Amino acid sequence: MKIVFNKPPLTGNEQQYVLQAMHSSKISGDGFFGKKCQAWFEKNLACPKTLLTPSCTAALEMAAILIDIQPGDEVIMPSYTFVSTANAFVLRGARIVFVDIRPDTMNIDEAKIEAAITARTKAIVPVHYAGVGCEMDAIMQIANRHGLFVVEDAAQGMMSTYEGKPLGTIGHLGAFSFHETKNYTSGGEGGLLIINDERFLQRSEIIREKGTNRSLFFRGEVDKYTWVDIGSSYLPSELQSAFLWGQLEKSDDINQNRLATWDAYHQAFKNLPLGLFDLPFVPEHCQHNAHMYYLKLKDLEQRTQFIEHLKAYDIGCVFHYIPLHSAPAGLNFAEFNGVDQHTTIESERLVRLPIYFGMGVDEQTQVIKAVLEFFA
Ligand SMILES: *Cc1c(COP(=O)(O)O)cnc(C)c1O
Repeated sequence: MKIVFNKPPLTGNEQQYVLQAMHSSKISGDGFFGKKCQAWFEKNLACPKTLLTPSCTAALEMAAILIDIQPGDEVIMPSYTFVSTANAFVLRGARIVFVDIRPDTMNIDEAKIEAAITARTKAIVPVHYAGVGCEMDAIMQIANRHGLFVVEDAAQGMMSTYEGKPLGTIGHLGAFSFHETKNYTSGGEGGLLIINDERFLQRSEIIREKGTNRSLFFRGEVDKYTWVDIGSSYLPSELQSAFLWGQLEKSDDINQNRLATWDAYHQAFKNLPLGLFDLPFVPEHCQHNAHMYYLKLKDLEQRTQFIEHLKAYDIGCVFHYIPLHSAPAGLNFAEFNGVDQHTTIESERLVRLPIYFGMGVDEQTQVIKAVLEFFA
């Protein structure tokens, strides 16, 4: 039996809602389903405002505009992340300053952030890797002490919490992804900007509507709409929102199902002899969403053998980010502050096992068997 690494989630209701949207009189953004989704997020995240976007990348770009990044500003983030975390700020002229990660969670090491702060620093961008929260209390304290903005890249973090607070709602702004590889999708591509600081409420709508005050016009707050600021087209279509609504209705089912697979892996591996490999670590005060199950092997060479071994059983498993500071654009637009003690070494050890909504027990058993055989 072939086991793929990922299957985009599908719960059953998406088709009906997409058809409904197709046959409605409004299929551009902010229609019936778009409003329904945003209301759902505002209630479940208990935040002042959320805006659906075409991608998490777009939401991060909006965040960079909202905090008014100017050429020469510095933005602190981990190097172990997706390109969009950096690009969104580079597009506004920022210089990226990378900080090392913690080897246990693969998240930015909060203890190394302060040394990277200069007079030009404008923001910190924690990335909640695998849907496991960064140390947000410490990060917010540092940010407040230095007057910095915090933009949470919570692309992988929907349904996860830190000290009971949903990821994405702790910083000034947060971003989710609904790409097909994430826990919830709006039909392949999509994202959400989470606005926690009331100062951004009005401008966020303007930036998203091509720099016009069209949202105010639709609500009857101005009598004509016009060009008032910079902006772009950051609205997803109704078809994407309709697809997403099908998943929001089933958000707990999706979450529970993924967590069950994650737990099955963890049960199977956690009692193996120490030193064979490292397992994911979830701090006590973090609830995760089973976005990812990974193992960390001895080194790059063993990881390559491991991926080959699983491939022979038709099991798709993959490695993840090549640290951005060693990428060609990273050399141009960024610098690594301090010593790369963990980022490169840990990234070379990490391999992700198949996990997706609806993964059967048979598939889990087959993956577990192949992994145990590798270490036998
Ligand atoms: C997936 C991901 C993104 C980008 O999301 P898109 O919706 O594809 O733009 C950004 N950051 C992280 C950490 C991600 O995992």
